[in-house]
Amino acid sequence: MDRLLQSRRPAWGVILSALLLSLSCAGRSVKADRPSVILVSLCSVRADHLGCYGYSRNTSPHIDEMARQGTLFEYALTQWPKTAPAFSAIMTGEYGHTTGVVRTTAMQRLEDEAVTLAERLSESGYRTGAFLSSSALSRHLNIQQGFDRFEETWRPEPGKRKSREDGYEAAWRRALAWLAADDSPAFAWIHFNHAHYPYQPAIVHDGRFLPDSLPAGGHLLPVKFDRRSVPGLPPDHPCRPQVTRPDLGAIHKGAAIPRTPGGRDYHRDTNWYVAQYDACIRSADDDVGRLLEEIDGTPFTTPPIVILIGDHGEALGKHDYWFEHGRFAYDDCLRVPWIVKCPGRIPEGLRIEIPVGTFSMGPTLLDWLGMPSADCEAPSLASLVDRGGASGDLENRPVFSEAGYEKDYMLAAREGDWKLIFVPNQRDREQQAGAEFELYHISSDSEELTNVAAEYPDELAYLRERLFEWAAPWREDAEALVPAGADLDPETARNLRALGYID
Ligand SMILES: [Zn+2]
Repeated sequence: MDRLLQSRRPAWGVILSALLLSLSCAGRSVKADRPSVILVSLCSVRADHLGCYGYSRNTSPHIDEMARQGTLFEYALTQWPKTAPAFSAIMTGEYGHTTGVVRTTAMQRLEDEAVTLAERLSESGYRTGAFLSSSALSRHLNIQQGFDRFEETWRPEPGKRKSREDGYEAAWRRALAWLAADDSPAFAWIHFNHAHYPYQPAIVHDGRFLPDSLPAGGHLLPVKFDRRSVPGLPPDHPCRPQVTRPDLGAIHKGAAIPRTPGGRDYHRDTNWYVAQYDACIRSADDDVGRLLEEIDGTPFTTPPIVILIGDHGEALGKHDYWFEHGRFAYDDCLRVPWIVKCPGRIPEGLRIEIPVGTFSMGPTLLDWLGMPSADCEAPSLASLVDRGGASGDLENRPVFSEAGYEKDYMLAAREGDWKLIFVPNQRDREQQAGAEFELYHISSDSEELTNVAAEYPDELAYLRERLFEWAAPWREDAEALVPAGADLDPETARNLRALGYID
């Protein structure tokens, strides 16, 4: 409690004091009619690669069914397209420059003073448990604040060989066991990492979306950032872009690169990687489906609120950015799925069209639970859902995002059909469209390929003004921000290296 009252936001202290005072008479309990909350998060899953968002491949039958039963946000945008900054924003309702968790994973740690959703719920009497299958969300990030139970299911158990699939299944099975141990309201967060490179789908889905001419399977090729160390790499292999422009991703050094059957050629068709990425999403959908089935079969006193949300998308070759995320602020990496289901409480079959930020998840949830509003940068979307998606008080309120690795930094503002990307640094501009401002009309150019800033000066001026108004108090600091280093245990460091987060 002392720590919470020392928050940099005094209003939190007032709210929590009143809340804790009211709880002190009754002990640590929540109203019996408050529902449990089950948050399922997916790493690297692009919204537009799911059936319920219009994708042509059958990647997500279970998630599609969930969307039919609940409310779906069409344009949910992350506040920073990298795992740790994205979740720091989701869990605090604050932008990356405010949480200080930005850029690459090994240098990130959420401040103790940050007030997380888990802390809010815990202080209100909820049991809180996290079951996470990604080393990017290990304890070094300090995102365990407020969780009674914090399980890192990606970690190998002593003396036991463990596959990636074991870690995913353990995440949802342990969460269900923990939920079932007590019938008091609980907040369970389950995180799946299936779609993160190196794009290794579950065996049952390996090759599912490959045309006959493309072989399934593959082997791990340790592609280095130095072209001389890549043995036999053909000149036209898609790894080349990474070798020449390492900051842009390309085929990741940990990617599974197949040989043709019986041959020694590396596969050169980048569609192979996209197909295997889609198969990974289908693998995640399997685990989501089994989890949802178990939840549906569990006799909760009050139906739980089930939330499915993405942290960031994945670049699949547009803008010369291959199989990575975090560097740029284009929608391939910003736009993620966000679906909420709770029969009788959340509208069924509703699709919210206006763009929203995923960091609104916490304040929206607190409103749904009838708890005091969160004092944070993210607006609650509860009234937006109540209005059936009519923008109301969110009219003329752009959604902002930030992006960048290391010292790179850019900002984006999205309102309605229009999106502005501001690129402060000349070096970054050279790797993008070459301009300081990029304006896109999303409904006619969803891939953000044609900068129309010159043709639409009014739209440019409007969004530029809104963006600068928002960023003025802190922009110079954010551009210069170099996060402090976090202490990594050897196992976390090893796993992060395998996922390509650190060298
Ligand atoms: Zn992620």
